[in-house]
Parts: sequence; structure tokens; C-alpha cells
Amino acid sequence: MEDCIFCKIVKGEIPCEKIYEDDMVLSFKDINPGAPVHVLVIPKKHISSLNEVNEENSKVIAHIFVTAKEIVKKLGVDETGYRIVSNCGEDGGQTVPHIHFHILGGRSLQWPPG
Ligand code: 5GP
Ligand code: ZN
Repeated sequence: MEDCIFCKIVKGEIPCEKIYEDDMVLSFKDINPGAPVHVLVIPKKHISSLNEVNEENSKVIAHIFVTAKEIVKKLGVDETGYRIVSNCGEDGGQTVPHIHFHILGGRSLQWPPG
């Protein structure tokens, strides 16, 4: 995906504040944090949104959640609590069409979101 911002981050063409990386996923700080802890976890391979998840690519999605468990420990919010969100499509508020999971924490989060 030539024009995808997150594919460019994966390739190192756009810098990021890296939190975690392995062969399948990358995690980095959100550039416009909505909470004291706000990081994104993305698959390195482009998947556009939750709508594109299927049996074939679901291994990386499962891996993202295993990874997230370690990331929240590293960021110190595993005990205080956190939220993992993936916005999908226009009504969901998705602005970057490369699937990503927001990890938010470090303060009491409102529910339901606006
Ligand atoms: P969405 O709105 O699609 O759910 O989430 C996209 C997120 O990506 C937003 O929270 C936005 O701040 C973040 N973002 C957009 N561009 C960049 C970037 O170039 N670097 C980083 N670190 N985050 C970005
Ligand atoms: Zn992409």
C-alpha cells in the first residue's frame, strides 16, 4: 500500500516512537494522544480494517492481543485498567485505513464514548 501512513511507518519512511516490534506487529505512541497512555498496535502487513479480517489473516489479530497484554504491563496500566479500541469505517471514526488497535489508559475513561 504505497500511500498508507502506517505502511510507511512499518517501512521506516515515517518516524515513530516505538513501544514494541516483532516480525508480525509494530506498536508505537499515537501522535495525538487522547489519554496519558495512548499507543497503537498494528499488523506489519496491510489490512484495511476490521471488515477485512478473515480466517487467513486472523493469526496476526490474535497475536496483537497477546502483544497488547505485554505492552500494558510495560506501560504500567495492567493493574489500573485500560481500553483497547479499533475504529472501523466512517461512523466508527476510522481515519487511517490500516487496521490498528488503540490502547488507552492512565486515566478514568468515559463510557460510552462520544
Ligand atoms: P483512527 O482515527 O483511524 O481510529 O486512529 C488513527 C490514529 O492514528 C489517530 O489517533 C492519530 O492520532 C494517529 N496517527 C495518525 N497519523 C499518525 C502518525 O503519522 N504517527 C502516529 N504516531 N500516529 C498517527
Ligand atoms: Zn497500510
